[in-house]
Amino acid sequence: MAHAHASAALPRIVIVGAGFGGLAAARALRRARAEVTVIDRRNFHLFQPLLYQVATAALSPADISAPIRSVLRGQANARVMLDKVTGIDREQRLVLTEGGRRVPYDHLVLATGARHSYFGRDEEWAALAPGIKTLDDATRLRARILLAFEKAELESDPAKRRALLTFLVIGAGPTGVELAGAIAELARKAVPRDFRTITPESASIVLIEAGQRILPSFREDLAQAAAASLQAMGVTLELGKAVGEVTAEGVSVGGRHMSAGTIVWAAGVKASAAGRWLAAETDRAGRVRVGRDFSVPGAPEIFVIGDAAAHADGQGRLLPGVAPAAKQAGSHVGALIAARLAGSVTPAPFQYRSRGAMATIGRKSAVVDLGRLRLTGLLGWLLWSLAHVWFLVGFRNRVSVATSWLWSYLTWERGARLITGQEIARAEPPPMPAQRREAA
Ligand SMILES: Cc1cc2nc3c(=O)[nH]c(=O)nc-3n(C[C@H](O)[C@H](O)[C@H](O)COP(=O)(O)OP(=O)(O)OC[C@H]3O[C@@H](n4cnc5c(N)ncnc54)[C@H](O)[C@@H]3O)c2cc1C
Repeated sequence: MAHAHASAALPRIVIVGAGFGGLAAARALRRARAEVTVIDRRNFHLFQPLLYQVATAALSPADISAPIRSVLRGQANARVMLDKVTGIDREQRLVLTEGGRRVPYDHLVLATGARHSYFGRDEEWAALAPGIKTLDDATRLRARILLAFEKAELESDPAKRRALLTFLVIGAGPTGVELAGAIAELARKAVPRDFRTITPESASIVLIEAGQRILPSFREDLAQAAAASLQAMGVTLELGKAVGEVTAEGVSVGGRHMSAGTIVWAAGVKASAAGRWLAAETDRAGRVRVGRDFSVPGAPEIFVIGDAAAHADGQGRLLPGVAPAAKQAGSHVGALIAARLAGSVTPAPFQYRSRGAMATIGRKSAVVDLGRLRLTGLLGWLLWSLAHVWFLVGFRNRVSVATSWLWSYLTWERGARLITGQEIARAEPPPMPAQRREAA
């Protein structure tokens, strides 16, 4: 009872989202005399930068996720709640959940990340051209890609076969570039070894981008190096072409129809519902406009961090939607709340320290921009791998990812190529044109 009393008197900090931002905030509060509640709709933290490796069967889901409970096991003042947040009552200071809970807070940190957006065509396009943001997205895409090969192997009509073996990736930011490279590697190197009729040349991988070049956030020379690596792997680049229509048969690009069995969306993200919950001002991408300290204007007890926030520095530059920015924001806000509670000195104003930018193309090439140091090719890939293994949460994952990579590097084997019945049902590859005609 004594314990219950003591904890009832402690300030309550609720963190929604156990991604990079939310976990960093929780960690920065580890010494605070407070009750920290971390709410997430999943029971695991997901390392999104390696999601496309799950989508292309190079890594297993468990390699890139860690149970939130085990991440926070050692933090005595933190508890974990598995539930989906559906709203916030700012008057009563309550977080509302799908499970019917009303969780009271004194300080609230929203770190709910972002989802992809289809420029207003979400309803129609999402099923035809799935994106990858969650583990479910990645396993669904993996099933779709692997099923395309299975069907192509048994298809005798050359046109249908060609369509089945055509993979379109829309959007050439880091995610699209990495996905296109990984699909090319899977289709041209790993898969043909196990099939009888699929040759490395039979697959076609097309990366479509509305802008004039790939990787717009990278320096021009690095983007060019990445483009050359992609082309060397057999990826066709369609630049300066906006997608006009997405259908079950393919896409129309610049008035031309491209048939494809698999279409992946890697263009455009939209922040989660945090702005709506708070009825706060958002930017065009749906991110909550926050102050320099990440608090919501007029609500010093509410913070929004990571991909869900639009945070501008003194010069009006927006914080990028990357993991290091979310982590740094989380640490800053956690330290700020801890200082407020302890009545100690407020931490220095937030200052983003860029960790540089990296993108990998297949298994032996990457572009790395660390400001003064810029790498391409194999050296870039080695640094990229080291950094990603290093930042993976949890020791078990590090060992397992490093081992999987080394194994596939030496043998071209893909460990994660099983498709379960449930995944086949969910993959629901869009029917091919002729099948539709037959059905009609
Ligand atoms: C495919 C891909 C590749 C990427 N590659 C890189 C990279 O190489 N380098 C890099 O720096 N960044 C990369 N990023 C971006 C990076 O992953 C994000 O910037 C980062 O994850 C943002 O952290 P966050 O804490 O804001 O949100 P997230 O990490 O997205 O976490 C949000 C959390 O909130 C939870 N949540 C959401 N809504 C609710 C709700 N209603 N109720 C309860 N819980 C909820 C989610 O389950 C999730 O756990 C990549 C992203 C993707 C999708």
